[in-house]
Amino acid sequence: VTILAAVAVLTLAILLAGTSGFFRIVAAVLMAVIILATGLRRLRRYRTLLPEPEPADVSRYDLRYRCTVCGLELKVEVATTDKPPTHCGEPMELIREGGRPPLHSVD
Ligand SMILES: [Zn+2]
Repeated sequence: VTILAAVAVLTLAILLAGTSGFFRIVAAVLMAVIILATGLRRLRRYRTLLPEPEPADVSRYDLRYRCTVCGLELKVEVATTDKPPTHCGEPMELIREGGRPPLHSVD
């Protein structure tokens, strides 16, 4: 379904929607299908653009993170990026780092 076809179907559906309850239901279903299809395709395209994650064993770098809210501490053994883990809805604080781990930087 191209964008043009979707717009045409939507316009037709909206025009017909005024005539009867049946067409109103058809229009609603059509709109839902089009919105879902567009959203799923966009999501799939976004996924294929992401680079393949390359997990690295960082256990010897002693990467420790602490949750600034509840105090939980974690030691990271394997990671794909240097992005800190999130706990209690907040990014965790790096408290110890034994050297520079070979991880991709994330802004
Ligand atoms: Zn927490």
